[in-house]
Amino acid sequence: MTSSRSLASSTVLIVGCGGLGVPAAWTLAAAGVGRLILCDDDVVEISNLHRQVLYRDSDVAAARAKVDALAYALRRRFAGVELVPVRARLDGSGDLRALLEGADGLLEGTDDPGLKFAASDALVALRGAERPPVGVIAAAIGRRGQFFGQLRRGACFRCLFEAPPPPAAVASCRVAGILGPVALEVGALAARSLVRLLAGQPDAAAGALVRLQSGRLDRVVVPIAADCPCRDAGH
Ligand SMILES: [Zn+2]
Repeated sequence: MTSSRSLASSTVLIVGCGGLGVPAAWTLAAAGVGRLILCDDDVVEISNLHRQVLYRDSDVAAARAKVDALAYALRRRFAGVELVPVRARLDGSGDLRALLEGADGLLEGTDDPGLKFAASDALVALRGAERPPVGVIAAAIGRRGQFFGQLRRGACFRCLFEAPPPPAAVASCRVAGILGPVALEVGALAARSLVRLLAGQPDAAAGALVRLQSGRLDRVVVPIAADCPCRDAGH
């Protein structure tokens, strides 16, 4: 097994340090990923504490940035991991691609559908790079969650969903919220899949959508869509 050594020299970009990003970051650090870039522009709020379990009352009182609070919590537990907090709101695939360049993996766990497409587009754009990154794009709403593993070739997130949903639909998702334990489970499972993809091991999410519903997991293999721009990228 050489995977632990290669994980220690791997960099993962985590976009979104909320309900999914927090357990994902913990799982990645615990698995031995050597360097985590944490990206989010929010501060810790009291409504976050029940499901974003590494944040504390004192973070709320200090209006601490999530990326700083998360880096602090991870550093105390995992002395060997290098943490790079980036407080920024990403505005599309260009921003994301710049952060992702040189990284080995991407974990997208925001509640912004536009960023999921941007994450996928950045992964596709880097398919021509010397060492293209792999990614897992995760979402949770209510009692349901899902994540998609995007490889160095094969289907992308746009093969699965053509375009972001209309803003009204997104707003209603935010109001619906996420059940804390579901977010913890989906974030950790998504990160576990990313660890396997980084190590080149088989995984249920490889080129597939894994769905968690009513405590059960299923998977849907995603074919490359006939009209998707990813067809021509770096194959
Ligand atoms: Zn595609």
